[in-house]
Amino acid sequence: MEINIEKAAINLSKLIKIESLSNEDFSKIDFQPFFQIKKYLEEFYPKIHEKAHIEIIHEGAFLYRIKGEKSEKLPILFMAHMDVVPAAKGTLDKWKHEPFAGIVENDIVWGRGAKDMKSQLIAMFEGTEYILNENKQLDFDIYFSLGFDEEVGGRNGAKYVADYLKEKNIKFAMIIDEGGMISDGILGLKEEIALVGTCEKGYADIKISYNAQGGHSSMPPQSTALGKICEAARKLEQNQMPLKITEPLSEMLTRLSKYTNGISKIALNNNKVFSPILKNILSKSPELNALARTTTALTMAKGAEATNILPNSAYIIVNFRILPGDTLDDLLAHIKNVIGEEFQLEALITKNPSKLSKIDDKFDLVSKSIKLAYENVSEVVPFIMVGGTDSKHFDDLSDHIYKFGPFRCNSEDRKVIHGINEFMTFEDLKIGIEFFYNLINQYNEYLVGNNI
Ligand SMILES: [Zn+2]
Repeated sequence: MEINIEKAAINLSKLIKIESLSNEDFSKIDFQPFFQIKKYLEEFYPKIHEKAHIEIIHEGAFLYRIKGEKSEKLPILFMAHMDVVPAAKGTLDKWKHEPFAGIVENDIVWGRGAKDMKSQLIAMFEGTEYILNENKQLDFDIYFSLGFDEEVGGRNGAKYVADYLKEKNIKFAMIIDEGGMISDGILGLKEEIALVGTCEKGYADIKISYNAQGGHSSMPPQSTALGKICEAARKLEQNQMPLKITEPLSEMLTRLSKYTNGISKIALNNNKVFSPILKNILSKSPELNALARTTTALTMAKGAEATNILPNSAYIIVNFRILPGDTLDDLLAHIKNVIGEEFQLEALITKNPSKLSKIDDKFDLVSKSIKLAYENVSEVVPFIMVGGTDSKHFDDLSDHIYKFGPFRCNSEDRKVIHGINEFMTFEDLKIGIEFFYNLINQYNEYLVGNNI
């Protein structure tokens, strides 16, 4: 397949020029930019649009069903969100090019959304368009789901698409959404490793309050409501939920063990047996710690309204990211166990963790498709997503939800996501296009080869 990467890059730059911001308040969302994206895609990808039926869901999410020769086999679904985060006001002078100018220069596309995630949107359309142009017989449908509010929680876009698909009783052999990428430096390794998210952590903002007698601060009791709250806060930081080596983490460590030596090689490879030593190592790095436990982050606090008043109530808000395997109920029980019963707990925003996607032959199809698109990848490993994606709403629709962005992104590059000078190289865009092209091919061959 000969990819016209200049054309794909220009398509991406045109989407970047559309300032597609979302809003938590559904009534305040301007849908015009999302329909402009849809219109562009129609121009860019005629073959897809010849075969696709497009459903508009909840005002501005788009669900494409691209029909195969037959629709006998389980379909696959590629997801992307069209919305982007704004460019923070105080940072505009630090951008090399204006965030929404969509400048293409020296084989790089610049601008907000270049990584997160208009590039993936373009890559899935490009890859599919190339396959369709080959007029291969596909006995399955390909679905695309384009959401408009991932950056503000996905509750009005992707969630509605998921509900619609559930109602229609559609199941997918595989779902691909944004997620882990191809990175080096994992566990200090120099190898390039593809991180494919097989699950997603849950989320909980818990408000913890304490009520007490107010009054003047000139004659205080031994401890005020704020004092009690501070004590509870400290206890929560010092007594976090236990570290666990879950199945995806275990598999990740096992697969990475071959790139290490000596004792770490043995420990990683036998991570169940060596778990006490490993847990100690994992807990020391914030990145690894986040993969192995429900994290606790104290983020907000409030006491009295003035310096000379005893607060009659004080609170903290703690942000927890719930590890798959733990539940919101486990977390609430843990909090009570640590701080005692005298505090009021209020769950503000909560979401249980996703289920674990299978690491089986479907994972291998993804793995193969990555390696064919980019041969420098040493290993493809399962990964636990610590942030949220739209596919968190799709748990009931497939046993194989893989959260993966088929682009290289090291820790330095990662800073541009939601930051300044977001960019996508032609080279990476090409890897992305080939990944989606390969994956459709791989799935087709898998069905034919296994006579499924
Ligand atoms: Zn994103």
